[in-house]
Amino acid sequence: MRYGIFSDIHGNLEALEAVIRCLKSQNIDQWLCVGDVVGYGADPAGCIRRVRDLDAFCVAGNHDWAVLGNIQLEYFNPLAREAVLWTRGHLSDEDLDFLQRLPGRYHNQDLIMVHSTLPEPEDFDYLSNVPKATAMFRHFREPVCFIGHTHVPDIVKSEDGTVSFERERTLALKAGARYIVNVGSVGQPRDGDPRAAYGIYDAALRTLSIQRVSYDVELAQEKILKSGLPPWLASRLAHGQ
Ligand code: ZN
Repeated sequence: MRYGIFSDIHGNLEALEAVIRCLKSQNIDQWLCVGDVVGYGADPAGCIRRVRDLDAFCVAGNHDWAVLGNIQLEYFNPLAREAVLWTRGHLSDEDLDFLQRLPGRYHNQDLIMVHSTLPEPEDFDYLSNVPKATAMFRHFREPVCFIGHTHVPDIVKSEDGTVSFERERTLALKAGARYIVNVGSVGQPRDGDPRAAYGIYDAALRTLSIQRVSYDVELAQEKILKSGLPPWLASRLAHGQ
């Protein structure tokens, strides 16, 4: 099974379309969406439609839940809060129903996926260092755990009791090792690279790669500016932050 993985789309349809085009040319069997389909960008409904059309396995992100009112808005910074309220006003009942049905976690024999961390995905903690990763490896058995939330691509390996962040972005999975993988963000990367990020995991070949693709940033920015969303949400896209 060859999985195409994307996360943190955040209503950026231009970035999502670019990612889908790239993945479609790479023989994907199954799509995985690691949450935050909406929030920040100007096309939340369009992004929900695309994810639904792909029949992606998808888990809920904190922005998806905030739009539904499942998370209190005081946990969000003022810009994110404004975007959540704007997004709520631009979704149909059907869109909201799709978000409502998203589970907190998904797993099969090849992988497990949560938006933030285990064991409590609904706490929306950030996996940022080795101690946190070490603790998280105790809470799943699958060979790979996909996460999102930080908008920064990362691969963490656990092998023979040692946990470390990998430098490579394309690797062959080692026998006996397990991995936590953040494929980065489609619609709002925060690692200084404005290109949309996504991943491919081939469970049969045991290979994994995180890739990037350029998209029409100017068009996504223009839509944000016209929509009445905070202008910073447009300008940050050019800087990958
Ligand atoms: Zn996010």
